[in-house]
Amino acid sequence: MDIVTKRPRGTEDKLPKEIYKWHTLEKVARDTAEAYGCKEIRTPTFEHTELFQRGVGGTTDVVQKEMYTFEDKKGRSITLKPEGTAGAVRAAIENGLFNDALPLKTYYFTRCFRYETPQSGRLREFNQFGIEVFGAASPSSDVEVIALANDVITRLGVKNISLEINSIGCPACRAEYHKALKAYYEQYKDKLCDTCLERLDRNPMRLLDCKSEICSGFKDNAPLILDYLCDDCKDHFDGVKKRLDALEIKYTVNPLIVRGLDYYTNTVFEFISNEIGSQGAVCAGGRYNGLVEEIGGSLQPGLGFAMGLERMIMVMDNQQLEYEPEKKCDLYIASFDEETNIYAMTLANRLRAEGFWAEFDTAGRSFKAQMKYANKINAAYCMVIGSDELAAKSAKLKRMSDGEEIAVKLDDSFAQKLNTLIMDISL
Ligand code: ATP
Ligand code: MG
Repeated sequence: MDIVTKRPRGTEDKLPKEIYKWHTLEKVARDTAEAYGCKEIRTPTFEHTELFQRGVGGTTDVVQKEMYTFEDKKGRSITLKPEGTAGAVRAAIENGLFNDALPLKTYYFTRCFRYETPQSGRLREFNQFGIEVFGAASPSSDVEVIALANDVITRLGVKNISLEINSIGCPACRAEYHKALKAYYEQYKDKLCDTCLERLDRNPMRLLDCKSEICSGFKDNAPLILDYLCDDCKDHFDGVKKRLDALEIKYTVNPLIVRGLDYYTNTVFEFISNEIGSQGAVCAGGRYNGLVEEIGGSLQPGLGFAMGLERMIMVMDNQQLEYEPEKKCDLYIASFDEETNIYAMTLANRLRAEGFWAEFDTAGRSFKAQMKYANKINAAYCMVIGSDELAAKSAKLKRMSDGEEIAVKLDDSFAQKLNTLIMDISL
């Protein structure tokens, strides 16, 4: 097949017939974020590669293997964003947003690009809804962010999503834990997969994340971070659990959740579905108190999450949820010749300005074919404009659901009348 008519591997077309699901998901996510006081932030699709190297971290899969990096015409290294956090932090620093009232609460919808092996729930271009909150260090903030994600899921009517939480401590307690983890895995050094062998020195916690069959068994007896938390980190984690309990948000503590990204501290969490195969994480996030400083800003606590929208849609589809009904064409105006067609056009334009979805013939179809089309697009009403109707400035509206005909005047009262009739249908 000619590649011109084939999309690149790992990408998806979101087609008009299914786009209402995306609109539903986006509306629920946006409304929920705004109820929590978040404001939208839009950052560039590409950034300097160095931002992700520093902000996502050199030991992560994302930076090591998955980035779409290229040189621009001036030889700068540019990367298509693989995630949303680094760009949001960069924008907040660059635009002085930390000088405004804190906490700064933001949300975004973004496309992400990662060179991964495409499979169900794993694409090379995918969409995320994300939250980033800065300037709030207390456990209430962790729970506010988790509750926001939980609310999006609840408002969508999605069921059977479990929340798993963990704390990965601060750099101080994590140093001790890394030592213990390294010592533990040293005994299996000959058996580890190549990736893990490399991670053993640079980022031992990632060994717990290894999906390869060779290594997965070793983690059963590995030391757990929760046994190494310092008093402050322990208190913080207890505070998070207490507040989740107060909101009656169910969770399980999973000490093996470590997250792939370097900048996380303390709380990490994932919302997981077991209905969409092995790529079950629909939302993941946590606290990243070291990130803003790492990227070049002030010391500023931060936290957030990213929800994978394709995976969310997969769950919504699987549960056959009722979405907001697809918009319906309010009125199809059929015509016969140039004069009546031009009249149909002006009428449609007037109605569109009033917010109706009105259609007329732009394809030069016969009258019969126009009626067929009106049926196909499921128009609520149909109206025929012939020379008689033009002369009399009146016509008949046909309700397509039952064939009922209603005489109307084509004067200034028409839009009002149409509105009433459409309300009647939807009652
Ligand atoms: P995974 O363990 O599935 O690789 P991740 O840790 O790489 O996830 P994050 O970087 O935390 O994922 O991204 C947040 C969310 O974005 C994930 O929970 C998932 O829902 C979604 N996501 C991540 N990578 C992809 C992808 N390649 N295709 C589709 N969705 C993705
Ligand atoms: Mg990944």
